[in-house]
Amino acid sequence: MSKIGKILCLIVIIATILIPLAQGEDVMYSIGYKAAKLAIENLSIKKGSENLLVITDAGHVLLDGKNTARAYDGVMDGSGASYGKGNLIQVNRPINSKLWFMFYNKKTKEGLYLEVRNGIAKRDIQNSTPSEMFSKAIKLKIDPNELINESEAKNWNVHFTNKTLDGNEFSIITIVTIWSEFPNDTKYLLNAIELHNHVCPGLISGYYIAKYLEVHYPLSNKTLIVWAIPPWCKDDVFQELFDATVGKRRMAVMYLQQKDKLYPKYKDLAGIYVEVSKNGYAKAIVIGFNWSKLFKDCNISSEYFKDFKSYKWWWARLKADVVMLKHNPERYVETLKIVDLGNQHSIKSMNANWVSVGENPLVKLGLMPKEEKKSPISLLPAILGLVIALAIRRII
Ligand SMILES: [Zn+2]
Repeated sequence: MSKIGKILCLIVIIATILIPLAQGEDVMYSIGYKAAKLAIENLSIKKGSENLLVITDAGHVLLDGKNTARAYDGVMDGSGASYGKGNLIQVNRPINSKLWFMFYNKKTKEGLYLEVRNGIAKRDIQNSTPSEMFSKAIKLKIDPNELINESEAKNWNVHFTNKTLDGNEFSIITIVTIWSEFPNDTKYLLNAIELHNHVCPGLISGYYIAKYLEVHYPLSNKTLIVWAIPPWCKDDVFQELFDATVGKRRMAVMYLQQKDKLYPKYKDLAGIYVEVSKNGYAKAIVIGFNWSKLFKDCNISSEYFKDFKSYKWWWARLKADVVMLKHNPERYVETLKIVDLGNQHSIKSMNANWVSVGENPLVKLGLMPKEEKKSPISLLPAILGLVIALAIRRII
């Protein structure tokens, strides 16, 4: 093959690789842009309006095996919503989930849910109709004031039963409610909401613990290590706000199977937060969260949280979100105990001493008694009794 032939061949090979890649990117951008355009027409709202909220999982999921990050750019340009304005919320979802967008008009309380049809990324997007592009296009009312009303919640439950929003109902209604009613808290919590992908009382308890720690135990030059015992939704907040990630060993997770073993005054245990200074000195702050007080404030039974057969599980959570955000963190969060851990030298050696397999930091911190193992000697009277009983039976 001549030199020119070789160059031509190389150009053809590069073009066959790059052109589909470029097209793939443009298709994703067009999907996001066209979704936004459709929503703006349908919801009678202006592009860039501060009343518009957009929620999407674009950028986290794949569509037809392709990255969807450009759909995020497309929806941003098409709607005028953005991360900086706090009205474009990119929720985390497993990579194999469907690509969807939720558009919400705060003024009319109407939302449009669009779910992208699989296979569309391989087609001519410019000439596709909305029904060809979206497998679901649902317009529905989401009025936060109505949703926290129990009788309205019973009516709205039909959307949970029918999975109108393809299982995203809880994510969407909780984010819509908090964004509409508590804009400042939403901005503060935005990254944690994106990571956690919904707003539940567990997440807000984490937000309140974080705020409580900031006020009562300012970090300045210290690093915060979280021992998530027991873990719940709260712990996603610390990963975002304090960079307390598991991978960086700034968070250790331990399950608490026998809560009743805790001494009564520690029954509200909501994690141990360890401040570590640059020279290795550490202080453990044992924090409690008063769930009983929250249920009382909401006028609901804790059993509602476990009732997944009716509207109760989601309605109780939504109500608890709203009630909690109307109060201060100090109403629910308290310091249960502070333990000076002395010089732990490094975070790595401290974690190895306190939260490695086989250790029980709750016993070491004096939050529960040491479990007494049954030794063979303690079983001796029972064994002797059994032997005697058998011997007597034989004699008789
Ligand atoms: Zn949660």
